[in-house]
Amino acid sequence: MEGDPRRVILFPLPFQGHMSPMIQLANILHSRGFAISVIHHEYNSPDPCKYPHLSFHLIPGGLSQYQADKSDPLRLFQLLNIDCIGPIRDCLGKLLSTHDDVACIITDANMSSSQAIAEDIGIPRIVLRTSSACSFLTFATLPLLREKGFYSHDLDSRREDPVPELPPLKVKDIQAMQFRSLDITLMVLSNIIEGAKTASGLIFNTFHDLEEPNLANLGEHFRLPTFLIGPFHKFFSAASSSLLAQDRNSVSWLDTQETGCVLYVSFGSGATMNEKSAMEVAWGLANSEQPFLWVVRPGLVQGSEWLEWLPDEFEEVISQRGCIVKWAPQQEVLSHPAVGGFWTHSGWNSTLESICEGVPMICSSFSGDQHVNSRYVNDAWRLGIKLECGFEREEIESVIRMIMLDRDQGQEIRERALCWKEKIDVSFKTDGFSSQPLNALSDLISSIKSSSA
Ligand code: UDP
Repeated sequence: MEGDPRRVILFPLPFQGHMSPMIQLANILHSRGFAISVIHHEYNSPDPCKYPHLSFHLIPGGLSQYQADKSDPLRLFQLLNIDCIGPIRDCLGKLLSTHDDVACIITDANMSSSQAIAEDIGIPRIVLRTSSACSFLTFATLPLLREKGFYSHDLDSRREDPVPELPPLKVKDIQAMQFRSLDITLMVLSNIIEGAKTASGLIFNTFHDLEEPNLANLGEHFRLPTFLIGPFHKFFSAASSSLLAQDRNSVSWLDTQETGCVLYVSFGSGATMNEKSAMEVAWGLANSEQPFLWVVRPGLVQGSEWLEWLPDEFEEVISQRGCIVKWAPQQEVLSHPAVGGFWTHSGWNSTLESICEGVPMICSSFSGDQHVNSRYVNDAWRLGIKLECGFEREEIESVIRMIMLDRDQGQEIRERALCWKEKIDVSFKTDGFSSQPLNALSDLISSIKSSSA
């Protein structure tokens, strides 16, 4: 890049699955010669010491520990969008008065209120959507589906039917995306979508080959420069932006296991389940007789600190065959030779990390985009199996056996997962994988600056 570096101001949301990709993007753009400022909350703050090359700016307010109840993500996004408007505006004002090199801000798609702030201040906003393009397309299509009656009770008996507007989704996937009330769900999602439509650019942490069938349709909804520059973690690991301490005993334990025989189980940073479901997970794992590494994050099981609900009998049955930790170095775990399968909640970062390591998935989606990601993994990409009955030990046991051992359908899924890994590795080595869209994004940011200089 010629001349002084231009500055980009990024504002991540304070949740693991949103923070990691934004910090990764900050590092990617820094490696492209941009100066980077990161505005952040105190709650789930990134550690500035880990990134001395980026400058960090703390804003007051945001979420308290008490407010950050993860059982209602829509309420969290609403709260953040309202509470942060003043502090972000003040912080941006200060940054703009002290730096004359600012090209644009990049904010999370879910931070839709930042679009109005950007317009008021007169600075372009580029949106980072931290999940898949297919899930964003789904969000954009939901109002139409509502009009067409996909949320009507008459369809309750046709939950398995396909949604012709959005293959391969089924009616039940669309219906599962409703949180609290349909009106509130659609209002929050519509703010996110409309905010993105009026932005200056749209970035996805995903890649062209995976999302290709949806891109034309996506372009109809979002008529703005769009950049698929993922998977970010291929450029910059997510490990440094982990908000919880990663237990390295999980890796030592994997070192003692045979190649490809361990099922890694993690439902991400936000999902919660009741004790009954957790018990089904535990007994499904035990009955499958496969070795497993299970991340039970404190707070995963509602009303419990950690493992109090697990009966002693469980430990006796699994003996040395299972390892349970509070949080793991996931990327390293997925790339470990002992790991042969990943039972995931289908969060987008987890899905991408699994695809890049060639690990077939078992999918248990909990909320929002996870329902879309898991359907795509099962039906479109055929890189895993979606649990269709919720948490039910018999289904769990048989699906684990299918993914880990089956020589027919399971073998096909395992081979397909390895093919994707090889394809990704080869394209990453040969043409830098996302270098073309990344160059285009760099050009866009540089041109914004030059036109406003
Ligand atoms: N992760 C981790 N250790 C764990 C579980 C998850 O480091 O024990 C990381 C994982 O690698 C991923 C992120 O946490 O980058 C989870 O993001 P995702 O989008 O999958 O789900 P979310 O937490 O947002 O629901």
